Amino acid sequence: MIQTQNSIDELNRLDKKHFIHPTSSLKEQQEKGPAIIFQKGEGVFLTDVNGKKYLEGMSSLWNVNIGYGRKELAEAAKQQMEQLAYSSCFATFSNEPAIRLAEKVAELTPGDLSGVFFTSGGSESNDTAYKLVRNYWKLKGQPQKNKIISRNAAYHGVALGSTSATGIEVFQNFTTVKAPGFIHIEPLSTDALKEAIAKEGADTIAAFIAEPIQGAGGVITPPEGYFEEVRRICDEHDILFIADEVITGFGRTGKMFACEHWGVVPDVMLIAKGITSGYQPLGAVVFREKIHQELIDLTEGVLLHGFTYSGHATACAVALKNIEIIQKEELVENSRKMGTYLLEGLKNLEQEIDIVSDVRGLGLIAGIEIVRNKQTKERFEVKMSQRIIEEARSRGLILRNVVFGDMDTIVFCPPLIINKGEIDELLSILRSSILEAKRQYEK
Ligand code: PMP
Repeated sequence: MIQTQNSIDELNRLDKKHFIHPTSSLKEQQEKGPAIIFQKGEGVFLTDVNGKKYLEGMSSLWNVNIGYGRKELAEAAKQQMEQLAYSSCFATFSNEPAIRLAEKVAELTPGDLSGVFFTSGGSESNDTAYKLVRNYWKLKGQPQKNKIISRNAAYHGVALGSTSATGIEVFQNFTTVKAPGFIHIEPLSTDALKEAIAKEGADTIAAFIAEPIQGAGGVITPPEGYFEEVRRICDEHDILFIADEVITGFGRTGKMFACEHWGVVPDVMLIAKGITSGYQPLGAVVFREKIHQELIDLTEGVLLHGFTYSGHATACAVALKNIEIIQKEELVENSRKMGTYLLEGLKNLEQEIDIVSDVRGLGLIAGIEIVRNKQTKERFEVKMSQRIIEEARSRGLILRNVVFGDMDTIVFCPPLIINKGEIDELLSILRSSILEAKRQYEK
């Protein structure tokens, strides 16, 4: 139902007065009000309170994998809430959806990843992993093995640990102190990893963490052989490898988990987002069987880490239904096929338009660079990607850009249910938005 102008005005006023938005410009909010107030979602489309429809090129925050408005998930939540919305999982209390989901995650994740600790999202998964791997080495009699090596341009979240692991300066500089023990290296070089290990000493390093594809850092795909070599280096030096699959998990890249592309099994895998497609807040940290067993053997008394909502029954019930849909509708396969189609379309734009460059992607996650000169990769002195996504938004397409450092990047991450017609629509709006932004610039 479209709202009246009076009620929209009221929402705008109340939003400005009371709602401190996450990762948003507070000034812009005060000047213009909230950018869009969404009201409804269906498939790959969102509708706002004015009745304007948008094609969702980002699955919101890289997470609405099965698309919007899925009644099955509402039904799963309703049933679970009526029966048992929530109960504690501390002190070994348990509930059936959490047990079943832990088993399902163990079945789906590669290799012998099989011990599952539930969180409420990606940042909690990250901070949980840092604490548990440090606890693991402490239990093994190596308390000094506590540094975490992370990568420049990485995004791991905004809790204290995950901010400190994040390799994007603006996030790091948000406050004046960071959590100790985090080291950053060049993202795409295994030599950089070897050098950091040599410099710090393997006996001081608990883990190396990496996103299989750097998402918020601009959709950076790894060079060939990178993760195989990372696995080898970590094994050689007895360093745990943590894969942050918060974005890439649950079919995003055309495999259930991105690590499968390279046949690499991390020691610890972090998941969130696509586990419920955003229908409930949920994440998890998944450990290899051997590490899980060592934690069991070495922990005397209580594992002193847990969130009120670890193993939330309703969130887990919704995740189970979401995963059932991903499997039943073969969305991992669709991600692979439609991802190829999207990438071809983007490459065609690169051929056609002189300011589009560096098209890359895997499955339904992709990125392009906007450049003034394709040969030298020189950027515009203005953020052209911002102008382009604003043009796209006015034409009913939601995209996102990456504007830190010298990047001028547009990223794509549509729901895994997207079809060819909808990709054609996305590409067509993108094309006219790029051409219009270029025309305006040259005017
Ligand atoms: N890790 C990665 C790779 C992410 O992309 C994100 C969020 N975009 C996070 C962690 C943090 O997740 P959350 O926002 O759910 O805390």
